Amino acid sequence: MPSTVILGGGIMGLSTAYYLASLSRQNPDAAPHIIHIVEPCPELFASASGKAGGFIARDWFSPALANLGSLSFDLHRQLAQEHDGRARWGWSESISYSLDRSAGAGAADSDSNSNSDAATSDRSASPPPSPRPDSSGRASPASLAPHGAEAQENGSAQGADWALGMTRLCEFLLEECIAMGVRLHHPARATKLVHADPGNPASQAIIRVDVLATTSTGREFHTGKLDLPCDSLVLAAGCWTPSVFRTLFPRAPRVPTVQGLAGYSVTARSRAWKGLHAAPAAAPCHAVFTSDPSGFSPELYSRAGGELWVGGVNSAALPLPARAMDARPDRASIERIVAVARALCGDDVEVLQGGLCFRPNTPSGKPIVARVAEADLGEGVRPRACSGRGGGGGGGGVYLAVGHGPWGISLCLGTGLVLSEMILGRPTSADVGLLAQW
Ligand SMILES: Cc1cc2nc3c(=O)[nH]c(=O)nc-3n(C[C@H](O)[C@H](O)[C@H](O)COP(=O)(O)OP(=O)(O)OC[C@H]3O[C@@H](n4cnc5c(N)ncnc54)[C@H](O)[C@@H]3O)c2cc1C
Repeated sequence: MPSTVILGGGIMGLSTAYYLASLSRQNPDAAPHIIHIVEPCPELFASASGKAGGFIARDWFSPALANLGSLSFDLHRQLAQEHDGRARWGWSESISYSLDRSAGAGAADSDSNSNSDAATSDRSASPPPSPRPDSSGRASPASLAPHGAEAQENGSAQGADWALGMTRLCEFLLEECIAMGVRLHHPARATKLVHADPGNPASQAIIRVDVLATTSTGREFHTGKLDLPCDSLVLAAGCWTPSVFRTLFPRAPRVPTVQGLAGYSVTARSRAWKGLHAAPAAAPCHAVFTSDPSGFSPELYSRAGGELWVGGVNSAALPLPARAMDARPDRASIERIVAVARALCGDDVEVLQGGLCFRPNTPSGKPIVARVAEADLGEGVRPRACSGRGGGGGGGGVYLAVGHGPWGISLCLGTGLVLSEMILGRPTSADVGLLAQW
């Protein structure tokens, strides 16, 4: 029976498990594909996947990502249509605006701004489809008009952008995965790759996993061990991927570079936005991209359920915590965001939660969606070809689904589908040839 172990229970791990399980079930003659997800953080979705804004774009991407972006957008729409995404994860059309708040204080342009947060801003105030990429991989704000606060509707080349509630999408995917037989090991951590025959690197690979328990003080206990047979291994551990790679492939000549860019956010309520149930039929949500005189580029999204998400304060200096749930936002950063929310929506803004999480960025600004070459795994590791086994096996091997930076929510479903097709040895639905370099 072919088996795949996925390391990381964020949106990339879940999307891959979802499509791998779905595609495998489409061929009733194939041997069942055993799929495991291994996730060490005791709190599920404490990472960027659970705290992101939930803004989905079809055509805001560079040429290398355009194909995957468009596939992913169609899959988001299809998933929402088939599973009542509106009710289950707040899937909704969203209209994007550039809001000029400079009021004569001078144009805000992230490129000339001395604050590094602004230079690593998430979103573009310039209308798609030809945004200027910045160091975070998204487009950076163009100079805003110097006078007055005016909202300008951004056109999208192929229709409006979309919004969703992140934790709810993650929960939906996990629920579906479990219903299809995917096994979640949580909290648990992969510690070693061994072989069934220790002297033969071409024999069945096994991922050794420590089962964990955590006390209320955060102390971790190892309560057991599991050996998971593994034909294909997917590394989808976001910013933690380099340390996972080093642990499993200690003799590898190089390690994929993924760096964490910290992002603060706030979820809030306000009289200004009561949600779509209180709006006229077919009314959209909103995405507002603006600048702040203190030198960053806030983004505000209204969500179907009546919540607001506000972010835009970033920091490249914050170290990555050992576990996603250990990231604690500092008060000053949250207050900066709340001040913007109040300026945009009014003084009644009630903060529900302040968040801090880390975008997985690569030096090239492009994600890595690829099978790792045998030479890059180091001596003693030889992925087995398992194609043809009951029609359900693909190449076998080690795969990377990492480094989606500020666009992981938009690109997750396409990435999961393409990676599943690679694992099953099928032609891929999008050309990701340009995402194989690292
Ligand atoms: C503030 C902010 C707002 C954003 N807004 C948007 C948006 O509106 N639209 C959009 O498209 N994108 C957005 N993004 C980007 C998006 O959130 C990320 O690209 C995406 O969530 C990355 O998903 P991931 O699964 O690769 O990583 P993660 O979400 O980081 O998940 C990685 C998982 O791996 C786990 N892990 C850690 N160590 C190990 C280990 N040893 N073994 C196995 N697993 C491990 C972690 O606990 C975590 O669960 C935003 C990002 C930020 C920070």
